[in-house]
Order: sequence, then structure tokens, then C-alpha cells
Amino acid sequence: MELDLIRKNDAEIADLIEEELKRQQNTIELIASENFTSETVIAAAGTVLTNKYAEGKPGKRYYNGCEVIDKIEKIAQERVKKLFGAEHANVQPHSGAQANMAVFLYTLKPGDKVLSMDLSNGGHLSHGSPVNFSGMYFDVVSYGVNEEGFIDYDEVEKLALENKPKLIIAGASNYPRIIDFKRFREIADKVGAYLLADIAHIAGLVATGLHPSPVGYAHFVTTTTHKTLRGPRGGVIMCGEEHALGIDKAVFPGTQGGPLEHIIAAKAIAFGEALKPEYKEYCKNVIANANALAQTLVDNGLDVVSGGTDNHLLTLDLRKIGRTGKDIANLLEEVHVTANKNTVPNDPQSPFVTSGVRLGAAAVTTRGFTVEDMKVVGEIITNVVKHSDDKDIMDKSAKMALELCKKHPLYAKEGA
Ligand SMILES: *Cc1c(COP(=O)(O)O)cnc(C)c1O
Repeated sequence: MELDLIRKNDAEIADLIEEELKRQQNTIELIASENFTSETVIAAAGTVLTNKYAEGKPGKRYYNGCEVIDKIEKIAQERVKKLFGAEHANVQPHSGAQANMAVFLYTLKPGDKVLSMDLSNGGHLSHGSPVNFSGMYFDVVSYGVNEEGFIDYDEVEKLALENKPKLIIAGASNYPRIIDFKRFREIADKVGAYLLADIAHIAGLVATGLHPSPVGYAHFVTTTTHKTLRGPRGGVIMCGEEHALGIDKAVFPGTQGGPLEHIIAAKAIAFGEALKPEYKEYCKNVIANANALAQTLVDNGLDVVSGGTDNHLLTLDLRKIGRTGKDIANLLEEVHVTANKNTVPNDPQSPFVTSGVRLGAAAVTTRGFTVEDMKVVGEIITNVVKHSDDKDIMDKSAKMALELCKKHPLYAKEGA
């Protein structure tokens, strides 16, 4: 990172960037939506490409001087299409929420019906939450998960048949199990709905064949690029050729202005990294690590939603223990573990308090954490849940966490 240059010219901001780097280095990052992108990706995001206006798309821009930008954006498109086997890709969405917004704009008119997963059951704000534009301008019907924490596809079908939505969304921010995209498409076809698969969280697992792909089933696939995919913060939309023009127009001029070409270059690099065999190994390790963490918690007598995980994340269910997600997430912070509170299915607590903590393995696996390390992480979390009143155990847990951070350095190479 160009920290020296920044320090020379703006010490106030440089100091804070360094403080944040230290925070990332000295905490066990279990926020399931976060990851550590490569230094190459970070470098590309900090380049002169930020200076260029490139409204439009490669070969069809509104401003002159886009010949080089066009080449970069085309490479990003080609790489992401290859990664997912998609016919068409738009790499301009600034974020996952922006990608979804463009699909809404293309497929729906205000007041149209949408069937999506309830936020408190693992869905995402941009899938129709009342506080998001998607919930304000559209008529949203929600499905949830059953008592065991699994999507009940018969229930989804029943809701679809009853409500005849125009758009069905498959995909979640907090669902630890395989999503059956084929079944979702069958349901969508029964009612003539479009199917949007939002793979923001599981994109890396889908790209490497470790989770079944929605490509070929969903009419539209949206994703973020910064979660398991391990790229810069951003979004992508993929679809078949028949929707390419409409989706491109929905991104620009429909919902965005100039694309962030420095971020698109960083996305291209991240897609290139994800096409390498090492990345598949990484994704395999992510799943193994999430499993080891879930198993350790269960072995220690704690509950996890659905009893385990098929992917990179899991949710600790604190109802039986009588603790709240808010308290435990704050206590974890005291022992150098970062995670977020999250509702569990049928949560008796409010979304600000919650009875769960969501835990993800994508970021720590990038640092090199192994299954053995994850067992230690599981012990640290168990200590906090069961013995937060015992200062000695809390101190010992903090030490264990810092040791793991030291064992797996982050951005420690020269120049970082
Ligand atoms: C994270 C996430 C998003 C939104 O991503 P942002 O980049 O934060 O806008 C959309 N959908 C799902 C399912 C997500 O998990």
C-alpha cells in the first residue's frame, strides 16, 4: 500500500489507514461477508483509472478517450463469464445491492410482486426489506426456513402459486445450506416468474464447483465480488444474451452513472486469481474450516442453526443458553474475534439484539487458518459464550486469539 506517500501528504488519514490495517491484522475476522483481497487487487484499485469517465460500455461510450478502459473492462467481462460459464456479464455494478436494483428495474414495474427470503431468516435488505427501495416500491411476499433451518421448497411453491410473483429471488446473506436452484426454476416456471439467483455470499464456491451453479437455471445471477470471491468491493450481473441489452441499460443509464474503472480493473485481477487452481484449493479449505468450527461448537454443547454447514458460514444459536447475539458479538470483540450478531429463525429477540452470531471462514482461510486452528477458534468462542464472567478464561482466550493472528500474518510482506 502507498502508505508512505499518503503519510507525506495527509498524515491524519494515513495514521487511520495504518490503525485499520493493525486492527485487521490483530483480530480473527469471522464476519461471513468479509475477506482479504490480494495486494495486487488493492494496488489496482489505487490507480489512475479512477480518473476516467466511461459511461456506456466497451465500444459504445459517451466520452472519448476510453480505448484503454475498454480493453480492461472487456477482460473483466470475459474472465467472469469464463469463471461462471455465463453468456453475458455486466461488471459495472458498484455493489451487490446496485446489481439487484438493476435487475428489479429491468424485470418489474412499481407495485409488482416479488417472492424472496425474509431478512430475519437469512435474506438480504435488497430483496424487498421495507426499509430498502425494493420493499418500498414493490409488493413483497417472503418465504423463510423451517424449524430445522432449511428452506422448505414446498412452502416456496405454495407461496408462488398463491401470489403469482413476477420475480422470485433465490439467495441469502445467512443460509448455511445448499440452495436448490433447479427447484427454484421449476417453481418460477410454474407461475411464469423470472428467477434471480443472488450468489453474493457463495460466489467463490459456485465458481469452483463446490456449490451447484444457478447459471442455466436462473434468468439473472447477481453477485458481490468481495465476499468469498475475494475481489474488490463491487457487484456483477450475469444473464443470457436475450436479456443482455436490457440489463446493461438498467445498470447505465438506469441506476448508475460512470463506472468505477479502477475497481473494474481490480475485479478483472480477482477473476483471474479465481480462475487459478489454487483458488479452488482455497475454497475447499474454506468449507472444511467452516465445518471444523461448527463441529467444535456442537461438540462443546452449543447449537448451530441447521446443525452445521455446507458452505463458508454458520450461525451460532444462543437461545438455549439464554444469551443474546449482541452481547456475545461484543464480548468476542474483547478477545480479538470479530463477528456480527444475527437473527436466528423465529428469533424471540429484535434485530438489534438477536439470539445468534453469524460466523464465516472465508477471511481467516485467506490468512492460512487450518482445520486445527479453527478448532482453537471454536474453543475461544465457547469460552466467551460459557465463561464471559471469568476474567482468567477471557484473558487466556484473548491470548489464544492473538497467537493465531501472529501465526498467520496478514499483509506482512514488504510494502503492505
Ligand atoms: C452482501 C449481499 C448483497 C449486497 O452487497 P453490497 O455490496 O453490500 O451492496 C446482496 N445480496 C446478498 C445476498 C448479500 O449477501
